[in-house]
Amino acid sequence: MLYDFSRRLVERKELIKIIKNQGIKDKKVLEAILNTPRELFLGDINAENAYLNNALPIGLGQTISQPYTVAFMTELLEPNRNASVLEIGTGSGYQTYILSLLFNQIFTIERIEKLSLNTQKLFEKLKISNVNFSIGDGSIGWNDNFKFDRIIVTAAGKEIPESLKNQLNINGILVMPVGTRESQIMIKLIKITENNFEITENSRFQFVPLIGKEGWQSN
Ligand code: SAH
Repeated sequence: MLYDFSRRLVERKELIKIIKNQGIKDKKVLEAILNTPRELFLGDINAENAYLNNALPIGLGQTISQPYTVAFMTELLEPNRNASVLEIGTGSGYQTYILSLLFNQIFTIERIEKLSLNTQKLFEKLKISNVNFSIGDGSIGWNDNFKFDRIIVTAAGKEIPESLKNQLNINGILVMPVGTRESQIMIKLIKITENNFEITENSRFQFVPLIGKEGWQSN
């Protein structure tokens, strides 16, 4: 059964007004948020609250990111139809779905098997065909033989994992919250040459920790 995308459109339009006021400008990003029914990624418990501009629990101690945060990170990634994206932290799949509307091929990794499997089922139902799922530790990336045009990390690290820098193409962009477990700065990194990176710091956010070999040790 395919979803009726006109449902709750009025609420999504309200949400767009709010995140525009917060500074999101990219038309493609705003359109992608407008076209994404966030309730699909929330299950039954929180569907009602889908268009509050808040992070919400998705079970197993994890959260779906706030719509503004998703928009902000996607804008920093500079959407491009020809670009491939590696996403660390599939979670509910809300961010993944928005990426699938704006980029070419998406590769997404989640460490909690049950979360990934739920999201995979949903994407099958929605007939999304440009997303590749993997279950495991995304702090070491997809595979050392692969390189991506974009990398987005939706969990917080104490630094940018070396493996992820290596798996980024030249001229590629990586976006990730970096800091302590409690609070992070949103970093945008552009890979200029193999060993030369341009880094800009953006505003503060609060994410769940990136847990793995090149992240935090455990919960
Ligand atoms: N983009 C998601 C955010 C989910 S929260 C959404 O909007 O729903 C961050 C996710 O990162 C959690 O699901 C958590 O389990 C996952 N995560 C944490 N460390 C990870 C790692 N090393 N590899 C892959 N996923 C990880």
